[in-house]
Amino acid sequence: MWNCDWEHQNQDILKRNYERQIRGEYKPVTPIRRIICEGCGRVFYTRIWSKKYCYYKKCGNIGYRKQLQQRRLMAPPRIQVCKCCGRPFIPKRSDALYCSNACRQRAYRQNVTDKSSGQGDHLI
Ligand SMILES: [Zn+2]
Ligand SMILES: [Zn+2]
Repeated sequence: MWNCDWEHQNQDILKRNYERQIRGEYKPVTPIRRIICEGCGRVFYTRIWSKKYCYYKKCGNIGYRKQLQQRRLMAPPRIQVCKCCGRPFIPKRSDALYCSNACRQRAYRQNVTDKSSGQGDHLI
């Protein structure tokens, strides 16, 4: 059985076989690959073709989280349209609604006036 758990516990055997494979003394049906774990960055020997991590249960999640982080860093800046003046801008915060403090304040003041006039309507 060549599975994840076995490989994790028998790296020394795989390493020895890998070296023999390089020297041509060992020709397995499934060649052993020398990979760098995407989670912890350690060298790992494996015969599982899809393997990316030394031990999925340990590093699979770390690698996944790293990938997510990278994807987030690589994502282009989101462009938002200012709710006050309508100009496009790149928000510093994901929940930013206005391009500048001036616009935010103007909108806030407008909001306050709207509310007070709204209350007036409500009274009538
Ligand atoms: Zn690892
Ligand atoms: Zn604005």
